[in-house]
Amino acid sequence: MRQKWKKLISYYKPYKGLFISDTLFAIIGAGISLGIPLIVRYITNNIIHLSPEEAFEGILKLGILMIVLVLAGAFCNFYISYFGHMMGAKIEYDMRSEIFQHYQKLSFSFYDNQKVGQLMSRITNDLFDISELLHHGPEDAVISFIKLIGSFSILFLINWRLAFIGLALIPIILIYAILFNRKMKKAFKRNRVKIADINAQIEDNLSGIRVVKSFANENIENEKFKIGNDGFLSAKRNSYQYMGGYFSGMEAFTTMITIVVLIAGTLFITQNVIQVVDLITFLLYINNFTEPIKKLITLTESFQNGFSGYERFLEILDIVPEIQDAADAKDIKQVTGDISFEDVSFRYEENTQKVLSHVNLEVKAGSYVALVGSSGTGKTTLCSLIPRFYDVTSGVIKVDGIDIRKITLNSLRSAIGIVQQDVYLFTGSVMDNIKYGRPGASDEDAIEAAKCANAHDFIMGLPNGYDTDIGQRGVKLSGGQKQRLSIARVFLKNPSILIFDEATSALDNESEKVVQESLELLAKNRTTFVIAHRLSTIRNAQRILVLTENGIEEEGTHEDLIKIDGVYKNLYNLQFTRIN
Ligand code: ADP
Ligand code: MG
Repeated sequence: MRQKWKKLISYYKPYKGLFISDTLFAIIGAGISLGIPLIVRYITNNIIHLSPEEAFEGILKLGILMIVLVLAGAFCNFYISYFGHMMGAKIEYDMRSEIFQHYQKLSFSFYDNQKVGQLMSRITNDLFDISELLHHGPEDAVISFIKLIGSFSILFLINWRLAFIGLALIPIILIYAILFNRKMKKAFKRNRVKIADINAQIEDNLSGIRVVKSFANENIENEKFKIGNDGFLSAKRNSYQYMGGYFSGMEAFTTMITIVVLIAGTLFITQNVIQVVDLITFLLYINNFTEPIKKLITLTESFQNGFSGYERFLEILDIVPEIQDAADAKDIKQVTGDISFEDVSFRYEENTQKVLSHVNLEVKAGSYVALVGSSGTGKTTLCSLIPRFYDVTSGVIKVDGIDIRKITLNSLRSAIGIVQQDVYLFTGSVMDNIKYGRPGASDEDAIEAAKCANAHDFIMGLPNGYDTDIGQRGVKLSGGQKQRLSIARVFLKNPSILIFDEATSALDNESEKVVQESLELLAKNRTTFVIAHRLSTIRNAQRILVLTENGIEEEGTHEDLIKIDGVYKNLYNLQFTRIN
């Protein structure tokens, strides 16, 4: 807990000046609102007994003084509202960068178990709550305490009996406020859950809108949405009921204090215990007294929200990326591309079955290795161990004879290019997406890469050529075109090691041919792993590895494997008969 607080306070450090000035202006502002009724009291006490001339002079001076004070108060309010919020926004900015950068560091295994929507709400909702608390918390607390203590002292000094009568209602107000506030808070929390649900539903629906339409399931989606939307409405109804109860109750109680003070005060006047001016002062201060109480109650609520948001924020920051550079990790510059697996076993999570078990493999630089096997035998897994998307459970993988855990992630991954079945393109232009392979590359290099990837011609046919916007995730492109862009991206990257994971599996025969051509060009002089669904595409591979549940079960050229009459031949025959 102490650690958490320490860290929280550390976020203020860069903005010490803002924090101090914000607090200072909060104190001055609170002082001013306490001071003005005192001047009014002075006027009613002294000025009205003066001769008209003297009164005019006095009231003019005090009037001007009050106007100046009001303006100063307004300035204080502006300062704490603008600069205070800016301080909150800047801290929020820092935290947002911190969590975003942390997201970039977290490993595949983390993302395997997370929902994107929830990770996003850490950055948006939670941080907003935190920044509201960080800004309003100290300032509201300062203002409220000063007003509370100040107004109480003044009232007490004027007449302690009337002060206590006025205060008699406070405990009731507190109980009422705390009870209602708690319910209101719970209701608002439910609102948040509901809105998060709705958002997740909308995200899911819009991402899959093409599937929705192709199944003509719009009505079902509308029905599903209605359930969520109804739930949100009724959650809101509930929270507004409590909110209505809270605010109307507080308003009534506050007015009641005024009435009680008025009644008791009037009686006291008739008994000559206090003067009229005392009663006026009391009435003027009641607001200064009840307002901070309300504020403090709201503050406890925003404290709880903000702090639990802060704890969720820390939870993420505290996750240590499973895969990161070892202290003695070194960059590898010129990668030749020799790869070896030495007794490698791997499981995704503890207590689950091993996906790979005692795999041994030597791959010479520049060779072309095909991996085949039924679905789920671990082909993708095996390849994802090379760029350290996951770390081996036991054994060692070496690149150029160096344990990959001793190589910096950045230089290791820079040496590896991956082309998958699913192509992820970012929102932006064709050019942006190609240059993603080597940020900072020249247009000429990018165009050269596109030519190598057989992509130049179709790109030139797009409405704006290389500047064409590809739509979200490349929806404006065909599967084969997207794949060729992703290959151009890798050409530009120019890695020594390649992984093609079913890169052509989703394509029609014609695009497959074009893509296959550019893949072969890309593979030249690079160590290449090819996972192929269609065995025809790897027939010419120098080396084919057949993966089964038992590991690498067969190995050789196409001709060798056909001769063995084993798993490969079986797979081959299956496809052969299916195709025909
Ligand atoms: P292949 O590429 O040969 O079809 P995969 O390597 O994708 O097979 O999967 C091998 C096994 O590992 C499968 O049983 C699959 O369910 C499991 N698996 C794949 N990815 C993950 C993951 N991210 N987390 C847990 N298990 C996984
Ligand atoms: Mg796979």
